[in-house]
Amino acid sequence: ASRFGVVQQGPPIEVFALNKAFLDDTFENKVNLGVGAYRTEEGKPWVLPVVRQVERDMAANETLNHEYLPVLGLDSFSAAATKMLLGSNVAIDEGRAFGIQTLSGTGALRVGAEFLARQLGYKTFYFSQPTWENHRLLFLNAGFNDPREYRYWDQNKRGLDFDGMIADLKNAPENSVIILHACAHNPTGSDPTQEQWKEIANVMKEKKLFPFLDCAYQGFASGDLEKDAWASRFFVEQGFELFVAQSFAKNFGLYNERVGNLTVVMSSKEAIAPVKSQLTLLVRGMYSNPPNHGGRIVSTVLNDPKLFEEWKTCIKTMADRILLMRDSLRNKLLELKTPGTWDHITQQIGMFSYTGLTTKQVEHLVNVYHIYLLKSGRINMCGLTTKNVEYVAKAIHDAVTK
Ligand code: PLP
Repeated sequence: ASRFGVVQQGPPIEVFALNKAFLDDTFENKVNLGVGAYRTEEGKPWVLPVVRQVERDMAANETLNHEYLPVLGLDSFSAAATKMLLGSNVAIDEGRAFGIQTLSGTGALRVGAEFLARQLGYKTFYFSQPTWENHRLLFLNAGFNDPREYRYWDQNKRGLDFDGMIADLKNAPENSVIILHACAHNPTGSDPTQEQWKEIANVMKEKKLFPFLDCAYQGFASGDLEKDAWASRFFVEQGFELFVAQSFAKNFGLYNERVGNLTVVMSSKEAIAPVKSQLTLLVRGMYSNPPNHGGRIVSTVLNDPKLFEEWKTCIKTMADRILLMRDSLRNKLLELKTPGTWDHITQQIGMFSYTGLTTKQVEHLVNVYHIYLLKSGRINMCGLTTKNVEYVAKAIHDAVTK
């Protein structure tokens, strides 16, 4: 008998299982609204032209090599990433903010969470109900043991349950880590307004809660990097010490290169050296050092004004296509007179729409129409194209009216 016989089968990870089911499906008009990645009008992955250009230059550059990066990654990358997030910010001016290169957004969350659990002994974390499905597992694996939810989504309103959120934060014990989506909330596509962010910050300050912002979609919410950084910058201006996990998967289309940055803001610069030394040991014992390719691409683009401008037009292209698809889907549903209100499709922002479809309706779309989406009713707007949006709208109509 195998010593591994004791190992129990774990549950599948929904989004990966869904993608596999989509790939295995031989139906010609199948539609993938599941996976969280950008698709072109042709339904294809997109390598940003500016990324291709930098990759060509890198391949031709004989001075580049495959030596190890430092444990905390490329300084030119993490400094530029931190600046992109915080802007011209008092914390940077005062030298009490820094970044470290991580294995994409997930890696930034994991390193940050593990640091908080080990060094500060934090055990309680709060995530929005609903949230990205990995927050809970990731924090538990990092050493937290008290997972809690704060209310976020009001199904009737199809919008933010702000009162619920505030009430839950008010009840959180001191030093709880609060995971906040910096912009373009996944999966609901509903962000707090600036006024609401101010209230959230007030409660968190009063209750001494620790903000851990998850910024996976900078540029995707509004098409503008500065606007999408508003909440993160506001928290720093309010004097919080905080972590922000930045992902360059979506806004650079560098999903499999695992490029991320953990931005650390502290109230005093004296703490930087010890904190960096502990982060170094943590990363050293976990994966030793990050990969070079993606970090170098992002660093090259962020540090070159011309390439930076080109990249911003790429972000705009992606954001605009998503907006077009939101309009298109809503209009088709209105034309079909599909029961229910569909304004939330255009009100929500970012890559996803939280449709409000029930589990049964979702099953109908998958089983009858070969349209793949998460059980929660979340759809990736980029899975829609001018060619398939009518098919999807009619299928939704059928699922809702049957
Ligand atoms: N956080 C949120 C809210 C996300 O949606 C994602 C990706 O889907 C991530 C973090 C991390 O992604 P990655 O590790 O690919 O950067």
